[in-house]
Amino acid sequence: MEKTDLRSLNYTELESFVAGIGQPRFRTDQLFSWLHEKCAGSFEEMTNLPAALRQKLSENCELVTLEKVERFESALDGTRKYLFRLDDDTLQNNVIESVFMRYKHGNSVCISSQVGCRMGCSFCASTIGGLERNLEPSEMLEQVYRIGKDTGERISNVVIMGTGEPMDNLMNVLRFLELISSDKGLNISRRNITVSSCGLCDRIRAFADTKPDATLAISLHAPNDALRQRLMPVAKKWTVAEVVAAADHYFEKTGRRITYEYSLIDGVNDSAECAKELSALLKGKNCHVNLIPVNPVKERDYNPATHGNVLNFKNILEKNSINATIRREMGSDINAACGQLRKSYAAK
Ligand code: SF4
Repeated sequence: MEKTDLRSLNYTELESFVAGIGQPRFRTDQLFSWLHEKCAGSFEEMTNLPAALRQKLSENCELVTLEKVERFESALDGTRKYLFRLDDDTLQNNVIESVFMRYKHGNSVCISSQVGCRMGCSFCASTIGGLERNLEPSEMLEQVYRIGKDTGERISNVVIMGTGEPMDNLMNVLRFLELISSDKGLNISRRNITVSSCGLCDRIRAFADTKPDATLAISLHAPNDALRQRLMPVAKKWTVAEVVAAADHYFEKTGRRITYEYSLIDGVNDSAECAKELSALLKGKNCHVNLIPVNPVKERDYNPATHGNVLNFKNILEKNSINATIRREMGSDINAACGQLRKSYAAK
């Protein structure tokens, strides 16, 4: 019999589970608190539950708890990169990456939503081995919970921008959002959560319709279809105009300003013409552009745009009244682009 993944259940499901094993209702609150507020890593820790119940839970349920296999810490800014092992030996490469960053406005964790990715973006190391599988809600939550335990610090922001395309695992991402923002759990405000997408327009619209109240970050990376198709296979299915229309729909439904991510690749998408085209595309929209000098990926022949080109790109956007920032590089001394740690671990 398959064991119940307790940490992926929402409160109502947990309530039914507790009733189903003949326990009084108050056990739901106790269990939920252990699972999502105290972030317990074992049933033994749940000391206000009777020993017989703990025994029954350990026989019938799975308490998904990620094991830290490696941690790299930046001496410059305290950024930490983590590799966690999944309890899943059938995978060739059963580790995932997460990042902890300290900002003035609070601590932020960037999590993975899938093991690998099938989107094939040409500048991204995470997709090189393809998609292995989706992460369960418990496995996404656990990245935040274990990092909170490891640092001993409060986490106030979460970005779902690590390995994987969140919209390709939408149901589990929705459950993650429900649990991470629960006032009976860590209670992280939805307004402090960012969900990224490379532009799966039907899923973005479906996501918007759930009124998730989180920030949507669109990985755009090119202002026109021809260039975007060179960089991102998903652009063959959805045009730039369709992606921007889906983002507009998200804004209409949620009132949340859209973030557009734009990785600047030397000689590819960093010209003044691209900046002007992007300005025309986004003019008058309530949005923000995040400019990111691309991380070099050994397997691809891409280099980051020069500092001069990055500044010029930003200036052109700002002259056209488009809000833009250059993403501050965090943990540059432990620099490993998204997906690189996992790959080098697999190689080892
Ligand atoms: S950039 Fe994101 S969507 Fe594209 S391949 Fe990498 S992980 Fe997947």
